[in-house]
Amino acid sequence: MSPVITYSRNVFLPLTFVCRNICGYCIFRRPPGEGCVLSPDEVIRVLRRGAEAGCTEALFTFGEHPEEVAGFMPFLEQYGFGSILEYCHAMAEEALRLGLLPHTNAGIMTADEMRYLADVNASMGLMLETTADIPAHRNCPGKEPARRIAMIEDAGRLKIPFTTGILLGIGETRSDRRESLEVIAGLHRKYGHIQEIIIQNFCPKPGTDMSAFPGATLRDMQETVRMAKEILPSDIAIQIPPNLADAAQILPCGVTDLGGISPVTIDYVNPEHPWPAFDELAALTKGYTLKERLCIYPEYIRRGWYHPRLRDCIISLENTIHMRGTSVIPAKPLYEGKAKSVYASENPDELIVVFRNDMTAFNGVKHDQFTDKGRLNATASEFFMKMLEAEGIPTHHIRMSAPDTMIVRRLEMIPLEVIVRNVAAGSMTKKYPVKEGMVLDRPVVTIDYKDDERGDPMINDDLIEVLHILTADELRKVKEMALHVNKVLTRFFDKCGIRLVDFKLEFGKADGTIYLGDEISMDSMRLWDKKTGESFDKDVYRFDKGDVIAAYRNVLKRIIPDSGV
Ligand code: C5P
Repeated sequence: MSPVITYSRNVFLPLTFVCRNICGYCIFRRPPGEGCVLSPDEVIRVLRRGAEAGCTEALFTFGEHPEEVAGFMPFLEQYGFGSILEYCHAMAEEALRLGLLPHTNAGIMTADEMRYLADVNASMGLMLETTADIPAHRNCPGKEPARRIAMIEDAGRLKIPFTTGILLGIGETRSDRRESLEVIAGLHRKYGHIQEIIIQNFCPKPGTDMSAFPGATLRDMQETVRMAKEILPSDIAIQIPPNLADAAQILPCGVTDLGGISPVTIDYVNPEHPWPAFDELAALTKGYTLKERLCIYPEYIRRGWYHPRLRDCIISLENTIHMRGTSVIPAKPLYEGKAKSVYASENPDELIVVFRNDMTAFNGVKHDQFTDKGRLNATASEFFMKMLEAEGIPTHHIRMSAPDTMIVRRLEMIPLEVIVRNVAAGSMTKKYPVKEGMVLDRPVVTIDYKDDERGDPMINDDLIEVLHILTADELRKVKEMALHVNKVLTRFFDKCGIRLVDFKLEFGKADGTIYLGDEISMDSMRLWDKKTGESFDKDVYRFDKGDVIAAYRNVLKRIIPDSGV
């Protein structure tokens, strides 16, 4: 599978724009005045819209200690709250009630304040920004590096899954960046709580003291991401903001996450930079597998680093993103076969089929794993399904969502293995007095009842009818389709110098139509080299005839010369 890049679907709730810090680059901060506090009604309205849009995270980011700013309190008190954290706590409860997980970045907090918020927050954050003393932070009591480091350390002691980050281009040097990353790495080594680090490029804003600053260049971003990859423990996600930075150019340097992306709200800190839409995101991350995560990363869910009050919401949201088919945590499969796993998707009419690297033979008695095997079979299967569709044979294939993952139409599977044989081989030569390699006068269809426990016994037409597996008409249709598939594939393989000896198909029904399901791959066919008779299929594995992956690759090279395998 291509490298995974994660993101979280969020709504951004700037509870207040009032802040005690006066940073030289900020346009978020506003003086107390009408509208400086987002009303509870507005918060709930945004949360509702977020829940409807499938968001999983309520991001509460707001000015630091606004209570210290003269004239602020009346704007908060009108809603009945005595501090911004009290207000944040109440709104986080609303978020949970509506099924969104809160993540709070309130600036500097004491350990007690974080403890107070921890029962309603799945994670918290504070940008370290930089360990350097820089002029941009001259009027910012909360931006003193030692205070920020102390808070991140407190969060570690409290076992709060934490987000931090550095801001590039605010007057720090390259060695300051290195030092900042080293400090974060050190904190994580001690407490194990940094789930992600944001590498954010400062974008100068007109009307601020730093409007003439150049900001961070693409080179700075690339270089710092590489530096972060080198310095940080590998379990810390490296995040860049895709609305500020040229993601496609920076991802290859070691980025693993794109942070919170909102289909509902803007980035209030950088309002001039809209989030990419989800389809744009897919284009930006071409060559990667885009996956969704919650604001608490899987590892911290596993460790149980959350308050019991959050448990139901976490479980339900994990389930939501599994159903969407986008979760970074592998979902529990609906069905686990010997070589494929089937998952539910967001769309009830579609399923997600993952071709695994497992290889089995003799009803599971022999079992191994081979790197790349899943992708090779998925590639072949997609290729043949498309070919058969073009010939008028309905198949379950819809599209690929990753090299080893096929999105398919949900079928009610028919428990039959329909085998077409052109040449005597395998079980046929064991059961009947016929020599392997004998070309049959005409293609033969044999059918097994699919049931591992019973050893997949052969079944006949009468039994299929009386056991109500298929009607006579349906069975006729299935056989007709199987022979049609044989005609198309035999013709094709012949041109590739391969003899199609036999193969197995499985079928299913949806809306009264019979579709070809399962897979058509080197696992389910016997393929012999036309000249040498050499096997290129699962028999190489069954009978230890050599390197099975090399054989599978050989088939793909012949059938899809430009597949790059
Ligand atoms: O074992 P047998 O000779 O009956 O297999 C006939 C064809 O069906 C072979 O190509 C084999 O790989 C395929 N097959 C399969 N899955 C099964 C049984 C057979 O793909 N469970």
